[in-house]
Amino acid sequence: MKTGTIVGAGLAGSLWAVYLAKAGYKVTVFERRPDIRKAEISAGKSINLALSERGWTALREVGLDRMVEDLAIPMYGRIMHDEKAKLTFQPYGEEGQAIFSVSRGGINARMMDAAEQSGDVTIHYNHQCVDVDFENTKVTLLNKETNETIEHQSDVVFACDGAFSAVRYNGFQKVDRFNFSQNYIADGYREILLPANEDGSYKLDKNALHIWPRGEFMLIALANEDGSFTCTLFMPFENHEYSFDKLNSRDDVDQFFREVFPDFHAMMPDVADQWETHPLSSLALMRCYPWTHENFALLGDAAHATVPFYGQGMNASMEDCYVMGQLMKKHNENWTEVFKEYQEVRKPNGDALQDLSVHNYKVMRDLVADPHFLLKKKFEHR
Ligand code: FAD
Repeated sequence: MKTGTIVGAGLAGSLWAVYLAKAGYKVTVFERRPDIRKAEISAGKSINLALSERGWTALREVGLDRMVEDLAIPMYGRIMHDEKAKLTFQPYGEEGQAIFSVSRGGINARMMDAAEQSGDVTIHYNHQCVDVDFENTKVTLLNKETNETIEHQSDVVFACDGAFSAVRYNGFQKVDRFNFSQNYIADGYREILLPANEDGSYKLDKNALHIWPRGEFMLIALANEDGSFTCTLFMPFENHEYSFDKLNSRDDVDQFFREVFPDFHAMMPDVADQWETHPLSSLALMRCYPWTHENFALLGDAAHATVPFYGQGMNASMEDCYVMGQLMKKHNENWTEVFKEYQEVRKPNGDALQDLSVHNYKVMRDLVADPHFLLKKKFEHR
């Protein structure tokens, strides 16, 4: 039987497992973390994400759109909150068009369910990839429960192990002429959970992405299914009038929200209470090439990790699966041919995603607050 290994059961890995099983492969997935379906998801790494048409297309191709649609909350546009709590709405497209807020854990769990239900996918949790052997198409895994190391061999290996990919680090980065760069931006982020009203209703319009643009920094909010919103403050780490290093005490945080986001503070006067328990996280772009070597390929963030401001990292990762699936059919599973075309086709997309993500930070935190922005945009695109 044809065999495939996937390292990482995140958003790309769990979806790709479904594609590969549908193509008749016996699939083994190794995931460093415990099974998220049994563990509490902690705040810190975007509890929800914006799913767009690229992602839906990839899900639809393997029938997963129906499995996740009940998780998706449509956002028909963005609502900007200015310093005086005045609201402005900008639609994302024509009437009825939307991007969707989905729970990261929820969509990941559904894709894992689908992979396992196929009967051809086995996911090993608490198994961390620590080495790769290109010559023999093997990966080495550390079982974090027993501390034992095992080797696993298959016909082909897919690295879906995220921005800090161990397959890339332990394998690709040791290959001659492999290019790699890692750039941290000057800003970080901290998540805040805005709870539902006591009756379970939402405190903001759930069908919009909320932005508090403040020039050099911004707060955003996306709705969760339970009436809460996951809010994220993006701001420089240091050296600015407003930066994370200035917010050192409960009073600093309280005063900051009261002054800068008054309508948010009014909805959540105890915002400062969550501050310490939600981590401050950094943001980086990783660029590399080639994305394939021997029988190994990088997918998703392992190939093109980016900053989150364009809301397309997951969508592009899902699109990697879609394109790889199309090429697998086109080249009749000749992996040399598939991999060659995959990286040639996808690398320019990865680069564009990264460039647009950086640019869109300026758009979201600053330009959307300009009343002439939409008008200017309209003329630019002519
Ligand atoms: P991941 O989802 O990171 O999955 C990698 C998996 O590999 C994890 O399960 C990890 O535990 C596992 N792993 C790691 N190392 C090993 C190892 N050595 N061995 C075994 N397993 C390993 N994208 C959007 O499209 N829309 C958004 O709105 C959006 N918002 C975001 C907001 C924030 C704050 C951030 C940080 C990102 C956002 N993204 C968004 C980007 C999105 O999260 C990523 O692009 C997406 O998660 C990439 O999927 P992946 O499967 O490649 O990586």
